[in-house]
Amino acid sequence: MHCSGKPGVFTWTGTLRTGEHYSTARTQVNMSAPSSSGLEVLLSSLQKAGDIESTLNVLNVLDELLSAGTDRRICYLISKGGSEALLTTLVNTVRSYSQNFTVLLPVLHLLAKVGHRDRRIGEKAEKADAVLLTLTLLRHNMRHGRRAASCLWVIRVFCSSISTATLLGHNGALDVVFNLITPPPAKHTRTVKAAVEVFAALLSSKTNCRMAVGKGYISALLRVYEAWITCLTVQGKLTICQALLRCLHSASRSSMGRRAVVSDGGLHLLYSISQTCLLTKGLESLVEQSVQLMRKSYPRTPLPVPSSLSVYSFCLPGRPADTWKADPGALDGSFENDSDEEHENEETDCHNYEDDLETDLDQLQSRPEPDRTREQLDQYTYLCPEMQHDFQDLDLGSELVKTSDEGGFLNGDLENKTQTCSRAQAHPRESPAPSVQKRLSSPGGGGEQVMGQADGLLQAADVCSQCLWSPVREQEGEDNMVNRLLEQYGASIPYHDPQLYATTAAHTKSIAAFSTLAFPDFWGHLPPQGPEPMETRKPHVQRKKVFEDVCRLLHPEELINKVVFDSEDPSPQCSQDGCLRFFSRFESGNLRKAIHIRTYEYDLILSADVNSSSHSQWFYFEVSRVQASVPYRFNIINCEKSNSQFNYGMQPVLYSVKEALEGRPHWVRAGTEICYYRNWFCLTGGPRGHSFYTLTFTVTFSHEDDVCYVAYHYPYTYTALQTHLQVLARSVDRRKVFFRQQTLCKTLAGNPCPVITITACPSSRAWTHLHQLWNRPCIVLTARVHPGESNASWVMKGSLEFLCSSDPVAESLRQAYVFKIIPMLNPDGVIHGNHRCSLTADDLNRQWQKPSASLSPTVYHTKGLLYYLCSTGRTPLVFCDYHGHSRKKNVFVYGCSVKETLWQSGSSIDTTSLKEDPGYRTVAKTLDRIAPAFSINSCNFLVEKSRASTARVVVWREMGVIRSYTMESSYNGCNQGIYKGLQTGTQELEEMGRMFCQSLLALRKNSITFSSELITHAAAILHLDSSLPDHNSHNCFEEDEPPCAESIEFSSHTDPYTPDEFDAEVNANMSEEEEEEEDKDEPEDSHRQGKSRLFAHVCRKDSLETLTMATNPCNGFDITNAYLS
Ligand SMILES: [Zn+2]
Repeated sequence: MHCSGKPGVFTWTGTLRTGEHYSTARTQVNMSAPSSSGLEVLLSSLQKAGDIESTLNVLNVLDELLSAGTDRRICYLISKGGSEALLTTLVNTVRSYSQNFTVLLPVLHLLAKVGHRDRRIGEKAEKADAVLLTLTLLRHNMRHGRRAASCLWVIRVFCSSISTATLLGHNGALDVVFNLITPPPAKHTRTVKAAVEVFAALLSSKTNCRMAVGKGYISALLRVYEAWITCLTVQGKLTICQALLRCLHSASRSSMGRRAVVSDGGLHLLYSISQTCLLTKGLESLVEQSVQLMRKSYPRTPLPVPSSLSVYSFCLPGRPADTWKADPGALDGSFENDSDEEHENEETDCHNYEDDLETDLDQLQSRPEPDRTREQLDQYTYLCPEMQHDFQDLDLGSELVKTSDEGGFLNGDLENKTQTCSRAQAHPRESPAPSVQKRLSSPGGGGEQVMGQADGLLQAADVCSQCLWSPVREQEGEDNMVNRLLEQYGASIPYHDPQLYATTAAHTKSIAAFSTLAFPDFWGHLPPQGPEPMETRKPHVQRKKVFEDVCRLLHPEELINKVVFDSEDPSPQCSQDGCLRFFSRFESGNLRKAIHIRTYEYDLILSADVNSSSHSQWFYFEVSRVQASVPYRFNIINCEKSNSQFNYGMQPVLYSVKEALEGRPHWVRAGTEICYYRNWFCLTGGPRGHSFYTLTFTVTFSHEDDVCYVAYHYPYTYTALQTHLQVLARSVDRRKVFFRQQTLCKTLAGNPCPVITITACPSSRAWTHLHQLWNRPCIVLTARVHPGESNASWVMKGSLEFLCSSDPVAESLRQAYVFKIIPMLNPDGVIHGNHRCSLTADDLNRQWQKPSASLSPTVYHTKGLLYYLCSTGRTPLVFCDYHGHSRKKNVFVYGCSVKETLWQSGSSIDTTSLKEDPGYRTVAKTLDRIAPAFSINSCNFLVEKSRASTARVVVWREMGVIRSYTMESSYNGCNQGIYKGLQTGTQELEEMGRMFCQSLLALRKNSITFSSELITHAAAILHLDSSLPDHNSHNCFEEDEPPCAESIEFSSHTDPYTPDEFDAEVNANMSEEEEEEEDKDEPEDSHRQGKSRLFAHVCRKDSLETLTMATNPCNGFDITNAYLS
């Protein structure tokens, strides 16, 4: 703990220690403001004291005060100039009495304790000329254990300032101190320990570290550590070993220190000692420290890819080919990360959350002018087909619903934009043969081996090893595999049609020209039966993994280290036996490289988002040639987020083709020994300090020779959406449901972005019925702006299916509203397996304030549609954008409230006169009651500056939609409700989508007619208990999770001492018999008592009495009245 030096109110109600040589009266000191002058007088008399005795007496009183009190007391002393006074006393004493340790020991002792709490002690010591003086004192007392230790603790305190540490280093401190770091048997172990601590503190300076490396001290420290460890069990001197490790930690804060640890055999030593320690009880703490040290010292290694830039690039409209989005640091040629500061890969805008809240009332209440003209909005008229439809078919009873009316919708502006987009040329770095047809995923590539088992039953391995053409219109004859699979196994998954999927996929455009289908997307998925509990993390799983990682360096000869998959170079496909085969050249797949490390271990590298060199987190790949019942370790080594739900019970998802063919087409949560931690990889030519994280998990496959798929979360491709919409359109009851799919615009890659209109058909063409329809409020739902958030698509799937269903609540909702749904705002990102961005490498959910028609067409036109609705008096009642959340559990919404934002920010603006419709809370409150996965406690309604360009804030601010939300679904699961402890499956996500729609009924409970059937279904929704207590909004960057059991970052272990522990060390040194004492095996905590023993043998008089006598009463310093009341 440090003190800022601010004066504070200080009250002491403790008592002075009583003893035969002290006043026997129990005295009370009150140091609150009125009598604080007492302390100042005490300090001033300390500096002026002319003789040893009075100095000792003042020191005695100070020591009594400080050792009996709390930190606040010392802080108060510091604020009153206590550090300066002690420093002056030190300097004066040395100058006047040379080396009178009767005085010096108490001064040094107090200085160490006070200085430990004084942030600016180094600076003050330099100013008082005390730094080098203390070093000289140490030099002259090297043989006197206790004196040396006293000097050392003070020097350590001075080193809290790096410049002071450097000053000491320049004056030979390293050599002096290192001389005291001796191997066992040492005479005075406390001095050795103090010396190690000082050495560690000195190494906080880069200059000192360089010197220490140059002088071979790192190597020497390692040897000393080894020597102490060897006698550890004999002597029990654990603390010296801990201190030595801290010293090495300190050295490894700089790259040269780390290199020295490695080149001097440190990793080998630490590793083997750790293995020994693991077998010895009570040595756990050394293991943990060693593991952290090994992680930190592990040589930084460039990620084994030729460039950190994405595999595929895309030439943006209006920009010359191959100009990459400015990538900070991309031009910085040095990959060596030499930053001494411990870099944290923080979320971009997560610090100082309070500062991020919008507190400007004008900003909160402003309604910016639309970013386009009224004329530009006319083009969106076509997106309201419910307003123009004549419903003639109502009388006829049937009309084929067009699934898309791409032909006639585009006009003017919109048309030109999309043409520009489609002219944009794709530049895949490799040149895969573009193919209209899609094959089932076939990592072996090549069509040379068609239908090897022409008449036999198709096996999982065939699906992967055969080159099979999908039944595309043009080539009906080559559809054997798909047809045969369907004939032989007949998949039947609701709202899914494999044949249709394969056909639809042929129209999905990718810059990579994907030509194969991943089996799970093609075949479909059914939620597994039964709950999937979160994985319980075994203790020390990360430690185990780190040991394995370190073994790579120690035993390189045991590594296979062979690239077995490279998306940029198809040639090195593995052929050796027993090697897994990887593949991911299919929609949403994004494995870039796979490296075979050990027999059952693989490193996997993900592709960055297209046109960028970052955002890798999402993954989806195929793995085949698996052996059954063998644990395979997979390491995804270039994750970028600083923490993940993988540390809190979440598992990746796995799909087995064999299982699917046997009638269990499930994505299941799988993987054990999962953990997520920072690793040793760095970016070639990337920004300094960029760090990567390893997600490691172990999979034991059930079937020999199976083909499996592994993903971050349940995949949901763009083709899946297009297929789903077609199936859905066919399924609706067209007499009741008005369902229309249109194209909002085309994406940069030329894919249509669908927009769906759903409402109830009027019961007749009578004017009143049509009029009712035209007056229905709009609800606008969007999803999947972030492509890695596939959970959002499953939620949207649930919403779409529910809204088209015959459920009475759905019927009422269609009667009550017109739904406008854009289920995938970022199709290109989804197709290319991006995690965060579109093809422009932009986060589309940061483009809403000024979206570019050419670069962010989907956002531009969604905003246009919203403007259009507002301009025609149909401002949406609710807007909601579905997302996924990687760091929290449950499902929750973020909304916007002026009042809550002002409250939360602690703004002084009086909110009582502000009018705000409290209706923005209704949906969340209803969901909290009806949706099991939903948690209102995670919701907030705060407007953050950093979110000013998100859909939620822009739609709220610019369109005036008070119920404008982001709905976040965890990738993991729930920690409350009936799903507590379970991971979320697609079924729960779809249920959430249904529930969201149902909650909308609560907004119209006064204006809808209730059938008895509806009432039984909707009672829970409509029963809105207004007494439900409002929760408090939470910081949306806050994690639900406690700190991870094992350190995700490289922990530093540099300042291990709490002030009390530090005092205990210093006191322990003073309590021992001078000089000649032998080392004793003392219990660890024997000196942790707060009381000082400093003066026990120094002071022989009643110090208070002496002090009173020695002070001139005329100065007003009456200790009995003013100081000790
Ligand atoms: Zn998101």
